[in-house]
Amino acid sequence: TKVTEYIQQAAGKPLFSIEIIPPLKGQNINQLLDSIDPLMEFKPPFVDVTYHREELIDKHNSDGSVLRIPIRKRPGTVGICARLMERFRVDAVPHVICGGFTREETEDMLFDLHYLGIDNVLVLRGDPEKSAGVFTAKKGGHAYASDLIRQVCGMNQGVLLHEETQASPTNFCIGVAGYPEKHFEATDYDTDFGYLKKKVEAGADYIVTQMFFDNQRYFKFVERCRAEGITVPIIPGLKPLATKKQLTVLPRIFHLDMPEDLVRAAEQCETDQQVRQVGVEWGIQQCRELIEYGIPVLHFYTMGKSDNVLQIARGVF
Ligand code: FAD
Repeated sequence: TKVTEYIQQAAGKPLFSIEIIPPLKGQNINQLLDSIDPLMEFKPPFVDVTYHREELIDKHNSDGSVLRIPIRKRPGTVGICARLMERFRVDAVPHVICGGFTREETEDMLFDLHYLGIDNVLVLRGDPEKSAGVFTAKKGGHAYASDLIRQVCGMNQGVLLHEETQASPTNFCIGVAGYPEKHFEATDYDTDFGYLKKKVEAGADYIVTQMFFDNQRYFKFVERCRAEGITVPIIPGLKPLATKKQLTVLPRIFHLDMPEDLVRAAEQCETDQQVRQVGVEWGIQQCRELIEYGIPVLHFYTMGKSDNVLQIARGVF
């Protein structure tokens, strides 16, 4: 089932969904699946699984030479999707990224997803390599999410990269990322917005936002989208504040502002356990206001631990 179909079927009732991150290579997958098991109480119709590009690692040889090897620290997105569908009977939404892939490799991966019975993909450019700091496309790969959207749409129409004949079409529902507080590389909000609009024109069926802690940013973003004629569902991405350190780490990594009231409340805490509770209470208030506004789905970034997401869900559903 497509994400957009679930939203239509819910007819205005807010849905609950989550995003998970593959474990570091070598860790037990059951730990991750067990950690989200309690959240199934809220019947997420779909679960997103992130995709991570390779990082260049320096390997020091005994003769003193250094070899740069591309290593994926969190592999397994496609396999995790299969396990999710089997264990929880949910739809898996794999993230598909431009970075590190040629178009041909992407086409093959999309076939893997199609054969697994996956109906949804979240199409992204992908983060830059940490060592480089700026995004570079692989030779023969896409530079922007909108280019990858066009490839997926092509497959949905039975058009493959190097085949003359019409193929059996795929039927992917396509989600894309949106940034209520602007993507960090865009020179200004208007420019970034123009590119978001291009993604929807290229064929995106819905938008998932970057996390935000101030609902006003989301409301402003949605209103701007609607004014520009973007009519697709806009799913708010949410993450509860969990530690004092995140007050500086999250704004740095995700380029967002922390509301002063939240910062003040967290700074008054003596332990991170107390900060976690502040995060839960803030999350509950945020969600209640978002539901009032009429959001289609509350989508949570679990980032490995989900006890706080569970508390928030219990507080709002
Ligand atoms: P794009 O939409 O391609 O935009 C990238 C930048 O280029 C923006 O500044 C935009 O304004 C600009 N731009 C867009 N099109 C053009 C154009 N034609 N010409 C010039 N400039 C243009 N990263 C991962 O690696 N793996 C994940 O699983 C993952 N999941 C995510 C999930 C969500 C919900 C979100 C919000 C982000 C996620 N990310 C993930 C991070 C994402 O990959 C980064 O934020 C990345 O830097 C941008 O991706 P994008 O798809 O928004 O890029």
